[in-house]
Amino acid sequence: MNRRYRKTIIAGNWKMNRDVSDVRPYGEALLALAGKKPPCEIVVCTPFLMIPAAAEVFRGSPVAVGAQDVSEADNGARTGEVSASQLAAAGAKYVIIGHSERREYHGEDDALVGRKLKTALRHGLRAIVCVGERAAQREKGAEFDVVRRQLREALYGLDLPQLKNTVIAYEPVWAIGTGNTASPLQAEEMCRDIRLTLRDMFGAAAARGTSVLYGGSMKPSNAAELLARPDIDGGLIGGASLNAKDFYEIVRAAEQ
Ligand code: PEP
Repeated sequence: MNRRYRKTIIAGNWKMNRDVSDVRPYGEALLALAGKKPPCEIVVCTPFLMIPAAAEVFRGSPVAVGAQDVSEADNGARTGEVSASQLAAAGAKYVIIGHSERREYHGEDDALVGRKLKTALRHGLRAIVCVGERAAQREKGAEFDVVRRQLREALYGLDLPQLKNTVIAYEPVWAIGTGNTASPLQAEEMCRDIRLTLRDMFGAAAARGTSVLYGGSMKPSNAAELLARPDIDGGLIGGASLNAKDFYEIVRAAEQ
């Protein structure tokens, strides 16, 4: 983390878990732990259906609500999709874009991730753009090339004000939901390389000001070590975000 230049963010990704009735007890438990001034920005990304309930529980609090996907289109004939303006109206401030599960199960490619990103930003959402290599790509030594390409395609054409509302999450696919967390060194190396790509694309000041998160089996027992690295500005947390106490332990690890 480097709090001097950029925000520390701990974001939870509930994926397709929990139900509307779980939102209030979870929210109250998290708010009781977080108090009025938590040590970093906290985001909870719920399934679409739970966003209004989450927005109500967290209204006026330091916890922001996020979605896990968004349509590339502003409106119209997109059966099953949810637009950025609908998300914003429901109370979402953030949206995750290009999560590896969207890439894997829904065939999302970098070009689509880039279009979704621009749509989300145009409607005032802050975006968490996920990048990360698969195990086979790392075995071949291609991880840096893969992530650089994902980043360049997704962020192509962004201007500096748009970048200010964009957060990058490095999520190696082999670490997501597997318990195989990247080592702090592996995570730091890639987060630093991401910042170098950002510097190349947008200049040094913009790169220094962009939060780069790590995601992939982050939990209370390994969060402090990861968050101590200078280029890791927070976490995107799946499994461990489902329990308010575990999630807040990770927030506390960002206090250091
Ligand atoms: C995620 O969903 O983005 C994630 C990192 O999941 P987990 O923490 O469960 O690995």
